Amino acid sequence: MKYSKLFPKTLKQAPSGAESINHQLLIRGGFIHQEMAGVYTYLPLGWRVLSKISDIVREEMNAIGGQELLMPALEPKENWVKTGRWQSFDVLFQLKSRHGAEYALGPTHEEIIYPLVVEYIHSYKDLPLSLYQIQNKFRDEPRAKSGVLRGREFLMKDLYSFHVSDEDRNNYYEEVGKAYLKIFKRTGLPVVETKAGGGTFSDLSKEFQTLTSNGEDIVMVCTNCHAAVNRELEQNIACPLCGGKLEEKKAIEVGNIFPLKTSFAEAFNLKFTDKDGKQKLVSAGCYGIGISRVMGAVVEVGSDERGIIWPESVAPFQVHIVGLDLDDKAVKDKAEEVYKLLQAEGIEVLFDDREISAGAKFADADLIGIPYRVVISKKTEDKLEVKKRSEKETEFKTLKELIEITLSH
Ligand code: ATP
Ligand code: MG
Repeated sequence: MKYSKLFPKTLKQAPSGAESINHQLLIRGGFIHQEMAGVYTYLPLGWRVLSKISDIVREEMNAIGGQELLMPALEPKENWVKTGRWQSFDVLFQLKSRHGAEYALGPTHEEIIYPLVVEYIHSYKDLPLSLYQIQNKFRDEPRAKSGVLRGREFLMKDLYSFHVSDEDRNNYYEEVGKAYLKIFKRTGLPVVETKAGGGTFSDLSKEFQTLTSNGEDIVMVCTNCHAAVNRELEQNIACPLCGGKLEEKKAIEVGNIFPLKTSFAEAFNLKFTDKDGKQKLVSAGCYGIGISRVMGAVVEVGSDERGIIWPESVAPFQVHIVGLDLDDKAVKDKAEEVYKLLQAEGIEVLFDDREISAGAKFADADLIGIPYRVVISKKTEDKLEVKKRSEKETEFKTLKELIEITLSH
């Protein structure tokens, strides 16, 4: 992609009211545009990042047998009345059509997926079943001021699994937990697993939290064995694992997993015939990851005073070519050639081909945060001046060496 063509360009300043780091840097870098509090357009750069995160999540969900589908965001009121959540779900967006019908805008999808699977699950042979989607969710959040960390419309992965027994469900729950650790490792996001209260319908829910002073959640972390527990559960008590001292830390909840009790199965009469011929309620679990929140969390933990520092796995591009002295035909031809050759190797490249000052180009490269910056100028001759966004030193490399480094990750 040529930067001269990319929509839009960077901004010198974040709009007033953008207080958190992810909010400021994602807006200034041209990743997101705020439409109103908690509602964003994901611009081409931001959408590339979200797509990479989504693909990692997809791969790991498919690897544990998850099947992807897409459910509607518009949900019928009756289903929410059935579960009692039309009244009790505090952040539910409720809307009335011009013809008087009422709907919920989906904040989560138990009210769609239970009535869906009830038509197809009849026997133990139909189980287990694991379905997920990646979709915009809607929540009428009272405070939506931490950029993409808390949206009123936001991108979430939600997986639902259905089983013949609590035991089978618990085994799968452990598998999903392991898949989550892989996902966060691959996205470059450090997480701790915390035990949480998890609302009204779970036995043992687990949250995946990224520790950062900019988080809205507070978790208790053991100073001795580093186990983490949710504050609601374990206020001022010693570590449940080793008895060590617990310390308060701020954190961002990027994912969680809930074993659902049978309340939804009862509300929608989700039963199956077991091997012994008896009718039983289906045991289920639900598992969420805030895809757009993950993007925000990656920025919160990976930035400096100049801009974002993307991990290679979720960066919008791998290489950022800064072309200087482009009025010199030999330099321009070389930059164009390197741009083409890198792309031919399958490497994603952003080429800053604009006729502006070197200083402005360097500032933009730091703000956008692509892992490898490659300067091509009169001075670089037949070499490339390569600098990692996360490091200070520049090194001169051949094209072959640059290709090797970028492809090795
Ligand atoms: P929180 O306590 O932060 O409100 P939650 O407990 O309501 O989160 P879930 O309903 O389990 O979260 O949603 C699954 C995941 O979706 C969360 O772990 C989080 O990563 C993400 N998420 C939840 N609410 C939001 C939001 N308003 N904006 C962005 N992501 C969100
Ligand atoms: Mg919430």
